[in-house]
Amino acid sequence: MINQVLEITKKVIDDLSGKINNLLEIVSKKGLSSFELPDTAYGIPLIYALEGIKINNVEEIRNFHKEILYRLKKQDDLNNLALAYLYIGEIYLTLKYINQENKETTYYGFIGDTIQRTLGVQLVDGRIPAVAVLLGELNADNLLKIVKELQEKKILTFLVGSVAQELIKTSERYGFEAYVVPVGTELEQTLYVVDWAVRASLIFGGQTPGQKDAIIDYVRKRVNTFAIAFGQINELAVANALGAMFFACPVITDQDLPEIIINDIADYPLLVSEKDYSRIVKKAIETRGLKIVVEKPPIPLSYGPAFEGERVRKEDTFIEFGGQRTPAFELVQMKDLAEIDDEKIHIIGKEWQSRYEKGGQMPLGIIINVAGKKMQKDFEPVIERQIHTFINEAEGLWHIGQRDINWIRISKKAKEAGITLEHLGVILTTMTKAKFRSIVDKVEVYLYVDQEDVINLREEARKQYKERDLRLAKLTDEDVDRFYSCLLCQSFAPKHVCVITPERPGLCGAFTWLDAKAAYEIEPTGGNQPVEKGNLLDPVYGRYSGIDEYVKKYSGGETETINLYSIMENPMTSCGCFECIVAVVPEANGVLIVNRGYNGMTPIGMKFSTLAGMIGGGVQTPGFMGVGVNYITSRKFLKGDGGIRRIVWMPKELKERIRESFQRRADEEGIPQLLDKIADETACEDIECLLEFLIKVNHPALEMEPIIK
Ligand code: SF4
Repeated sequence: MINQVLEITKKVIDDLSGKINNLLEIVSKKGLSSFELPDTAYGIPLIYALEGIKINNVEEIRNFHKEILYRLKKQDDLNNLALAYLYIGEIYLTLKYINQENKETTYYGFIGDTIQRTLGVQLVDGRIPAVAVLLGELNADNLLKIVKELQEKKILTFLVGSVAQELIKTSERYGFEAYVVPVGTELEQTLYVVDWAVRASLIFGGQTPGQKDAIIDYVRKRVNTFAIAFGQINELAVANALGAMFFACPVITDQDLPEIIINDIADYPLLVSEKDYSRIVKKAIETRGLKIVVEKPPIPLSYGPAFEGERVRKEDTFIEFGGQRTPAFELVQMKDLAEIDDEKIHIIGKEWQSRYEKGGQMPLGIIINVAGKKMQKDFEPVIERQIHTFINEAEGLWHIGQRDINWIRISKKAKEAGITLEHLGVILTTMTKAKFRSIVDKVEVYLYVDQEDVINLREEARKQYKERDLRLAKLTDEDVDRFYSCLLCQSFAPKHVCVITPERPGLCGAFTWLDAKAAYEIEPTGGNQPVEKGNLLDPVYGRYSGIDEYVKKYSGGETETINLYSIMENPMTSCGCFECIVAVVPEANGVLIVNRGYNGMTPIGMKFSTLAGMIGGGVQTPGFMGVGVNYITSRKFLKGDGGIRRIVWMPKELKERIRESFQRRADEEGIPQLLDKIADETACEDIECLLEFLIKVNHPALEMEPIIK
């Protein structure tokens, strides 16, 4: 069987080579020479990763194409054939892109670095435990059942070929938020997913381009992928299967084909047959050896993160609560164990059943009482923040805001499926216990639906929010005995250690010190571990002996020491999913900050994607650092280097996002006009213009001691 696969792949390579030669002629005639694939710092990614060659012009493509064919002539074994197909397929797609054959389309096509970084935390914390590729042809009914099953199992699914077309024809929601991504209709576009998998080794894994064996090994072991191929397998599908199998991605087919096992690549079969569509996903998961835990409340709706980003529009709404339309709030309170009637849901209000059945609008006060031997008052906001996710993960339910500005909608479809008001309580009790099982032993939910009750209780809740805020605002790095680590990203970036303190949240924005503390209590052997502070070696730079010991141990000896509050002297390492990058601007004696999602140029001549390509992978890069948005307005932001006075440039959208808290910090520092003195893209995008701007506004960084000593 494998010999047939190799023969067919040779033929596909010949065909594609012919097409490549034609395209080379066309693009040369058009005078097209240099190019850049959209939103990537990695040239043609697969070739850059494995060969270390960053191709950015057509002549280099021509030469590399010849080189591959030459290599293949010398040796056409499985490895060389698989790699040759992957390279040649990638070149073919790139030339089509240069020739503008990939016109505006509803399909996603090439997947940029930004989305990969955005999904980084979900990939490491188990919210996306695997990536699937569906290929070929399947009717809409079976396809939707399979897609829904994959969504419920939180598997990010890419569709290529006629299945992509079929999905778009249905009215089902798709996109990265829905965990279902129609890549394109041509089978070669499967390589965009391979590109994505291989790029993970550079973005998160700290691998160096050109370290072919290490990168192949990384993808085989760390990137959990599988493919399911539907319908007759044509020659191109066979070549794609070889490319997938080369990276240890098993292919499950609904055709009658013998198993393929290649012991040098994986200890599980790489081609498996399963004709029963109700079992095919299970078969894929078993074959790849994945353990996927699905926590779902007993409600008549699909449930999981794939449904979290779904909007319920006004015209599709059956009933809504809050959102300035009716009074509403949500509050989690710690109680004694004896005070709680476990899993009890109380709905309090006159004739609430008939009012709910009518639909429209209703007041809603949600109080969740929790108790547990390991529960702490400080965990209340951590649990409360999860109400948003718990409700949103139900298909047809929508939640935004929090506390007393929450807004919940139930769609008509969800109502038709049988969702009741009580189910809201069921979601909250089940998921609070599932997610916080080690700290919450008992949970009881009260849903108040009478206006007067909600308004009165909201006042009480507001008092509690205020007390809580005051308590947490006072929490400083000096106040606590221990910090917490986050090692979640080590599944992709084995050398990276995040140290999370009250004044320095995790760089992905997903973990505050309290989150990490709660996560440790929930799972004492999990990714968040206590880090004893030890001796304070430098209060300005934020250097502690306990942190140094911990980081050295858990980075495998790669990082000897870190300063929590410096970008210049032994800064903390970065993985790949940072929300922002801080970069030193020597000419301006300061730093700029650029957020993920800003695609424009920065004054140092590099976009976010280029800067991101320079850091990450758990390596210290003085002068460059990944940070979370909330760290910018911390009192400890670059304290060792001069603090917020050093910031000379930020994109406008980032300035707006942090405006309120930044203003508080600027007032504290005695520089209330600082935000206006920080340039953005509307003022300048190059260094000369930035310097002119800073001089004009008399920016404080210009007066500070040199940032580079
Ligand atoms: S806190 Fe750090 S290690 Fe943890 S998920 Fe976020 S970036 Fe990764």
